[in-house]
Amino acid sequence: MNASPPKKTGRPEVLWPLFGGLESLDGIGPKSAQALISAQIEKPRDLLFTLPHSGVDRRRRDSILDVHLPAVCTVEVTVGQHTSPSSRGRPYRVTVEDQNTTFQLVFFRSHGEYLRKQLPTGQRRVVSGKVEMFDGIDQMVHPDHILTPDKAEQIPLFEPVYSLTGAMTQKAMFKSTSDLLKQAPDLPEWIDAALCAREGWPAWSTALTQAHRPLSLVELSSSSAARQRLAYDEVLAHQLTLAVARSQARREKGQVTSGDGIKQVKVLAKLGFSPTDAQVRATAEILENMAQPYRMNRLLQGDVGSGKTLVALMALLNAVEAGGQGVMMAPTEILARQHLEGLQPLAEGAGVVLELLTGRDKGGERRAKLAALALGDIHILVGTHAVFQKDVVFADLRLAIIDEQHRFGVAQRMELGAKGTSVDVLVMTATPIPRSLALTQYGDMDVSVLDEKPPGRSPVTTALVATSKMDHVIDRLRIAVSEGRQCYWVCPLVEESEVSDMTAAEDRFKRLRAALGENVVGLVHGQMPPANKDAAMRDFVTGETKVLVATTVIEVGVNVPNASIMVIERAESFGLAQLHQLRGRVGRGSTKSTCLLMYQSPLSKSGRQRLEIMRKTEDGFQISEEDLAMRGAGDVIGTVQSGLPRFRIADLERQTTLMALAQADARKLLLDDPRLETARGTAARTLLWLMEQDKAIRLISVG
Ligand code: ADP
Ligand code: MG
Repeated sequence: MNASPPKKTGRPEVLWPLFGGLESLDGIGPKSAQALISAQIEKPRDLLFTLPHSGVDRRRRDSILDVHLPAVCTVEVTVGQHTSPSSRGRPYRVTVEDQNTTFQLVFFRSHGEYLRKQLPTGQRRVVSGKVEMFDGIDQMVHPDHILTPDKAEQIPLFEPVYSLTGAMTQKAMFKSTSDLLKQAPDLPEWIDAALCAREGWPAWSTALTQAHRPLSLVELSSSSAARQRLAYDEVLAHQLTLAVARSQARREKGQVTSGDGIKQVKVLAKLGFSPTDAQVRATAEILENMAQPYRMNRLLQGDVGSGKTLVALMALLNAVEAGGQGVMMAPTEILARQHLEGLQPLAEGAGVVLELLTGRDKGGERRAKLAALALGDIHILVGTHAVFQKDVVFADLRLAIIDEQHRFGVAQRMELGAKGTSVDVLVMTATPIPRSLALTQYGDMDVSVLDEKPPGRSPVTTALVATSKMDHVIDRLRIAVSEGRQCYWVCPLVEESEVSDMTAAEDRFKRLRAALGENVVGLVHGQMPPANKDAAMRDFVTGETKVLVATTVIEVGVNVPNASIMVIERAESFGLAQLHQLRGRVGRGSTKSTCLLMYQSPLSKSGRQRLEIMRKTEDGFQISEEDLAMRGAGDVIGTVQSGLPRFRIADLERQTTLMALAQADARKLLLDDPRLETARGTAARTLLWLMEQDKAIRLISVG
């Protein structure tokens, strides 16, 4: 055999016109091209995926009396008298008569000569524009269209309305998109035929025409078949990329890590409780995954307090039982330390050595830890991102766990993969995120969910209080403290600056100390020396201090079961996910807990709505779904740091089911046709090129 298969590395020729210059399109000159580019519409392809956001009904009427004014009307009229402006600044008027009434066409700053040519008295014209009553006279100010009756069909019955930038006009958008639609190639179908049929989705080019040239308002909705299909194209391309990354990772050889369960049983016996069904299920999924000969890439999702740490510990013990090591990274020093304190006694009981490594380890102590790690004398390492450093070498690292993932970027996740050869990776999210976003952001991973909380939690009562009631709140707090209750008092990030952040916390600390007593109040914030931070946390954990004033450093993970009051200042400035996290710090013991959300009056309507959601529910998933619906994907998890793709058509808020559908579809396609070589596979390659996801194609080519 000497014929080598054709190289499939370049963009297919049919797509070339869509990736050319904008100026080749009707209606677009250098100026309007510039305007489009500044709106991130850089190529014909981008314009093709820029859909109208509304439309104007321009169906022909007999008379303006047939519609409810003010409204856009299209009527045929007989042109009557012209009236030139009586003085500067006054409009030029042309009286016209439709079948049932007369009204005026009104022009400001127009040349009479031109208008007399356009609208000769006594002739018939079709005019279209917004008609409004002004000074008791129905008027159409600057008609959008004036045409002779024989040319009137040029007026679209339903005219799409696009968002405009700079020099672009609706007419130019209409012209250029019409040109594009004429030119758009017929592409082979990449969506599964059965799915298309079931959903009633039109073919690609038909869908584009329908989306750009809707016939009614209904067709503008994101649930219209054409828009659903085009949105699906986008999410399918994204999911294909993730699926390629996933199958790529699965091809990397991994180690079979399968413990005997003895250490796990020992630790479970020492716990004062039994694991929830969800914990048992998630642990089993992880262990089964670790036993596979490929690398694990798994996400553990669970609401605050659902008990992710125990699942993590079981997985780490599994690695140790199999003769290997495990590492768990937390986003903050405080959290890492807390993991150490919680887990070390349990590990010891099972003969497992668990140690802490953070940026604070220096000199000889650090060297000793590193040596023990390299020898395999430390079995489980807990730490901050200090465990990433180059000189941290393991004897036999099998499992890496990232706790409270949202503080770790995607880049760090990749770095981890590079740490050991074939290390299994488990990521634990602190924040429940809506399913569609989870699929978008972590679509390359397998997912385990803790959808059940340990028994015995009491619900948290949440109340909204204006900042002006601060004194009252402090009075109540004094009583609570005298009853032995403990309270977190969270100060907000005031101006995105850590310094002012700190000042706010210090001011509040002083005020509360003056009101409640010197030794009752502690303070912890990001700018404090580490040792002071530890001391402040310790005093609060032991109950020495009753009130802990803090910035959001306590947000994730901190566990002080006796704390039953959470006060959050300026709650309106926090994201709902963050508020949910913070509130999750209380309600961990048997005492009835309270969360006070203090806000600065006046609260905006949406601000109140958001805080009301917090009052309504404690279900993190529900909160995240509502947050998504209110704020949009980009805000819920910052687009840049999360690496979320920017979709032009797909709407993660309203088309949530598409993402799940696309993930299943993409994974199946790749399973059936790993190198995308069948007819559908080839079509899918075209889709990837079209959606500028050609990175995935390169991965397939080298794989
Ligand atoms: P998160 O999922 O927020 O990380 P943690 O792992 O910190 O939650 O667990 C929260 C608290 O619940 C801890 O005090 C932990 O000991 C306790 N816990 C975990 N699992 C159970 C269980 N099955 N039964 C009772 N308490 C549990
Ligand atoms: Mg946790």
